[in-house]
Amino acid sequence: MIDLSAAPTLDRLLPMLCETAMDIHLDVYLVGGVIRDLLLRRSTVDFDFAVEGDAIEFTRELAARHGGTLTMHPTFRTATWSYQELEIDFATARTETYPEPAMLPVVTPASIDLDLYRRDFTINALALRLNEPRQLIDLYGGQEDLRSGIIRVLHDHSFIDDPTRLFRAVRFEQRLNFHIEPHTFSLIAPALPYVSRLSGERLRYEFELIFSEDEPEKSLHRLHDLGLLTYLDSGLIFDETLYNAFRSYRLLAADQQYAQNSWHIKTNSAINIGWALLGSRTRDPEQMARRLMLDRTATLAVHGGQRIAKLLDKVASAQKPSEVDALLNDLPTEVLVAGSVLASGDTRAKVTAYATTWRYVTPLLSGKDFTNWGLSPGPLFGKLLRGLRTARLDGQISSLEQEREFVQRVIAQMAADDATGEDA
Ligand code: ATP
Repeated sequence: MIDLSAAPTLDRLLPMLCETAMDIHLDVYLVGGVIRDLLLRRSTVDFDFAVEGDAIEFTRELAARHGGTLTMHPTFRTATWSYQELEIDFATARTETYPEPAMLPVVTPASIDLDLYRRDFTINALALRLNEPRQLIDLYGGQEDLRSGIIRVLHDHSFIDDPTRLFRAVRFEQRLNFHIEPHTFSLIAPALPYVSRLSGERLRYEFELIFSEDEPEKSLHRLHDLGLLTYLDSGLIFDETLYNAFRSYRLLAADQQYAQNSWHIKTNSAINIGWALLGSRTRDPEQMARRLMLDRTATLAVHGGQRIAKLLDKVASAQKPSEVDALLNDLPTEVLVAGSVLASGDTRAKVTAYATTWRYVTPLLSGKDFTNWGLSPGPLFGKLLRGLRTARLDGQISSLEQEREFVQRVIAQMAADDATGEDA
């Protein structure tokens, strides 16, 4: 039987849910990936429940008994119960029919058996009935496939009905170190043409999930081998450099303090770094952004990824920090991260130094100081500040005194140039 000790939250919740379900004569199930993860003894945070009958009626009763708040979605007969620190989703058990391949399904309330049949893989089609006697429902051999490390669809039309399952199959295979069993594998090629019918939003979401995995490079590599990456961009190149770049990023992000304090990488940056990395290998960033209906930040990441990949040779030959600064100065953090992990050796060191240090270099003097010295605000101020910054970046000056001397020198030079009629 399932060991719930790995999920203390469930241990606390289940008796409450079970009592309510039995009192109002509804059957409630814990269902899907959570059961897979519990059986594999992997940590799990998302709990999905299915209610045979009406999830809204059940959740209302729960809230009436235990408090908390409800968000209801009557069209889908689903509800979210916010209880203490938890947010728990309840769905009415349902069947799904696909009017056309790759389109969203038509949903009808149904028994748990049919609800399990609509699911993607045997390992995700497991349910725990909460009503007493508690019982694990495994209609398709999910437990056996978990033991054998196998990804198996429930029926032959599965990938055609919903081609996002191709991406899901690869993601679970790589995450769990499983393999797609031979018959399921034989169903992949015939389903490939249907990927083009997926909306940009759905396709994008699959990639966002992959970028959020612990080892996205493994899934991307597998998608490449299966010919699935071409649906982002027919010319996308998945090479060893890109594979290693995803790995290097992971190592960088693993040191959370360094990532946050030195790089200013936000916790949710993995997705846009993923886009920047793929952008570095696309032929047409605009087309990729349009196909996936990317938002503005992700679109900038794809374009920036392509730009920085092209700039790396110039960064490699730059002699001074100020030259690196001039090359990289308007690129966002995610793109700089991508550039750094795509590069190696000295070039990586330069991008890293720029992203973590050089871009924050500013002179100590400001326009206010110049005004105090009797200078009139104008283009000269910008020129002085830029000059000071360049000199600081390149290590020519490092103290306030040296900055003052630098400004005096520039002004004296300009006066001398004026006197000889030259343009400063
Ligand atoms: P993860 O650990 O990545 O969150 P999960 O299995 O919990 O994986 P979800 O995307 O949260 O995955 O979906 C919950 C459950 O819903 C799945 O376990 C599966 O049973 C079902 N499901 C999700 N997406 C599909 C799909 N495209 N086709 C069929 N069933 C799906």
